[in-house]
Amino acid sequence: MKSYVWGMIASLLIVISATSCAQPEEVTVPNGGVVITFDDHHFKDWLKTDSLFKAYEWKATFCVSLIGSRSPEDIQSMHALHAAGHEIAGHGYLHVHAAAYVALKGMDTYINDEIIPLIEYFEQDSMIDLRAYAYPYGSHHVSIDNELINYFDIVRGIKNGNRSPERSPCYFNNSTTVYALGLDQNLFHHSPDYFLDLLAYANQEGKIMIFYAHRPVETVTGDYQVSLATLETICKYACEHQMHFYTLSDLANMSDD
Ligand SMILES: [Zn+2]
Repeated sequence: MKSYVWGMIASLLIVISATSCAQPEEVTVPNGGVVITFDDHHFKDWLKTDSLFKAYEWKATFCVSLIGSRSPEDIQSMHALHAAGHEIAGHGYLHVHAAAYVALKGMDTYINDEIIPLIEYFEQDSMIDLRAYAYPYGSHHVSIDNELINYFDIVRGIKNGNRSPERSPCYFNNSTTVYALGLDQNLFHHSPDYFLDLLAYANQEGKIMIFYAHRPVETVTGDYQVSLATLETICKYACEHQMHFYTLSDLANMSDD
């Protein structure tokens, strides 16, 4: 009888340990969440956006490229965004197409040209510790992800399209390589109603939706721009549905990788 009981306990422990070693568990949070990232160096517009959306207690991640050629006003604006609680992330010292650059010149040259000067600039001149990196043009490869994780805690690619919310690859996947959906108006899938559908699904399922955009403007006049109205629709929905705003580093803190 005794050995039967011990056998049962042993089987139970095996089941529990097998379960805990299975696929990494999906991260879910109460009411879901949203990550809004912005690429390049539209500091003046980003600062204006922050002043408008403070009321929603929003938090964004600003992924900065070409930092070596920015004006003192831009640098000041970047520090103001950082001081306001937003994350400053890397987006390339030269803003190159990572996969093509690595294929052409090799990984070491890519790291020495695109990544090291970026990190050094921020460490030495701005005292900002870059924890996240967004690939220019979304161009990457698993070998580059594996290399960059030696320098950053999380990297962000892009996956555009109008897949149904259940099939979107742009929810936080409990990994240090994440994908974002574009909000810019020139993208074929652009639709504030679609963005709200994705948020509603995240809200219902406890998922964290990741977006990216470039330049926020009152009136869209060209590519790589998103209207303040679209951004406000997202922030308002998140705020009204008690969805939390996360930065890319917040995701890294939650990841099992
Ligand atoms: Zn860019």
